[in-house]
Amino acid sequence: MAYPISEEKISEIRNTANIVNVVSEVVQLRKTGKNFVGLCPFHSEKTPSFTVNPDKQIFHCFGCHEGGNVVSFVMKHDRLSFPEALRSLAKKHGIDIPEPLLSEKEKKQYSEKETLYKINRLAADFYHRTLLNNEMGRATRDYLSQRNIKSSTINQFNLGFAPEGWQDLLRFLQKKGNPEGLVEKAGLIIPKKTNDGHYDRFRNRLIFPIYTIAGQVAAFGGRAIDDGIPKYLNSPETPLFNKRQILFGLDKAKNECRETDTVFVVEGYMDCIMLFQEGLTNTVATLGTAMTPEHIRILRGFAQKVILVYDSDEAGIKAANRSIGLFMEYGVDARILALPEGHDPDSFVREYGMVPFKQLALEAFSMVEFLIQMAIKKHGLTVSGKIEMVNDLLAPMAATVDPVARALYLKKIAERVGIDESAIAAKLKAFMNNRENILPGFYEKMPEDHLSDFSGKSQGSDSPTHRLERQLLSVMLQYPKVISDIKKHNLIKYFNDPLLKSIGMIIINSAAVSSELLTDLIQKMEDAEKRRIVTELAIQNEGWDETSCRRLVDRFILSIQGKKEIKDLNEEIKFAEKNNDTERLLYLLGEKQKNAVFTEQKKMKIMRR
Ligand SMILES: [Zn+2]
Repeated sequence: MAYPISEEKISEIRNTANIVNVVSEVVQLRKTGKNFVGLCPFHSEKTPSFTVNPDKQIFHCFGCHEGGNVVSFVMKHDRLSFPEALRSLAKKHGIDIPEPLLSEKEKKQYSEKETLYKINRLAADFYHRTLLNNEMGRATRDYLSQRNIKSSTINQFNLGFAPEGWQDLLRFLQKKGNPEGLVEKAGLIIPKKTNDGHYDRFRNRLIFPIYTIAGQVAAFGGRAIDDGIPKYLNSPETPLFNKRQILFGLDKAKNECRETDTVFVVEGYMDCIMLFQEGLTNTVATLGTAMTPEHIRILRGFAQKVILVYDSDEAGIKAANRSIGLFMEYGVDARILALPEGHDPDSFVREYGMVPFKQLALEAFSMVEFLIQMAIKKHGLTVSGKIEMVNDLLAPMAATVDPVARALYLKKIAERVGIDESAIAAKLKAFMNNRENILPGFYEKMPEDHLSDFSGKSQGSDSPTHRLERQLLSVMLQYPKVISDIKKHNLIKYFNDPLLKSIGMIIINSAAVSSELLTDLIQKMEDAEKRRIVTELAIQNEGWDETSCRRLVDRFILSIQGKKEIKDLNEEIKFAEKNNDTERLLYLLGEKQKNAVFTEQKKMKIMRR
């Protein structure tokens, strides 16, 4: 496949974009020895197995076996194609990519997303200008000032107004040369039932542009200004927008989240904007969905402590019941802040100010503790109350997939309620055997999570031969000096595992594998499985040095010789059996035994060297 970006540019981008910096933007990394480690953004884990090696400029996850170089990381993380990832890295690092000469088809393929982002940006500007400068925007301006939203905040969040007319935005975008089809694809217009043209999706609404982490407009939310229905309306799913994967305000909150290691999650745009304006600049909002595994993975890259803010105890309980299992699974410290009845974050802060809000946040309960507290509040600590309490807590306990987390949860309840742990455990077991009781979230894991359990393991992966083959590839990647020896003895030819064999051939054929060339090698591997194996073998630290590398090569040569001799012997033995040549047979069997002992001795000698 011919990429429209020159090889020269690709290597310039790869050499400029430091993988540690790029990964650090979304994963908290900690230095250990030569490597950096952090929690993998591609699978759920509590102890870091995601490893980045700055010398080799590669990453590898020892949990889900994902691996690659800086470009593959951006592709996988931001769900971009190869050229898209290169362009994104180039942009961030101030590298100019000359506009390539593309065919119409290629143009469409490569630039559709960029065009959609451009359309969204134009639309956001249109809405914003209409709000600020147009007579039509007056009522919305009044509404915002009634709610104490400052004009600096309006500008910061680029708030806007969608006029009441049916085609104001469409006409504006068409005048700017954007075809109707693409505007529809961006989710901004809806085809008429009569099939003749389109009308604007957002009308007479206050508009909240929804940005990606990188600050591009992915979608819009619109709030009805009068009693329009529905009160809130979001863009539909588009190539740019999946509400399960995006958090409103994160583009603005990310740095503060990183610095405080804490993120506040609220339910509405206005709550988010209000808290932000009042100085709580590590606040984001979900877009009318419960927290998804994707949300948690994204947030975890910015902060370890998540404070979920709800309007009431009831809302908090509902949310905690729904997502406690997920948060526990991801090892995120999630707390619930339930505001006094009748308040949302916006109204609370307006009435009492930021200081009491922060105080409440400091006192916020962990999810487990919150649920226990709520159950005590509801049922009291009488004997029957305790039984009711335990019954209330069975469902969230059952939803806690991680057995360790579940055991801790169980222990905590037993302590707080003063009931024997084993009695609660028995109850939980009975509850879980009844499958209907399991909360819907329980089975709602990402399919990748399941897949990753099985990937990265070729058959026979624990046999000594297989291990030797992997080790040999590993030294080739880490100590390219040995490659010439391996080439000379043609060792790759004797590999049993076809996948490892083909990787070995690629390495041998790519001349010398210096560390600069390693990322190049990874680039050329189109098979993700092979790429994973290579990054793993290149990054894992088995403490190879020159001597141990040579020793390994010798051991491999020996194992081949041994196998060859035994194979010959076996054939002769079969022949002797067939001919009833007892004398020869006995001799050959003796030889086979000697051979085994001899090989063993030689092996020991190599090991002792
Ligand atoms: Zn992983």
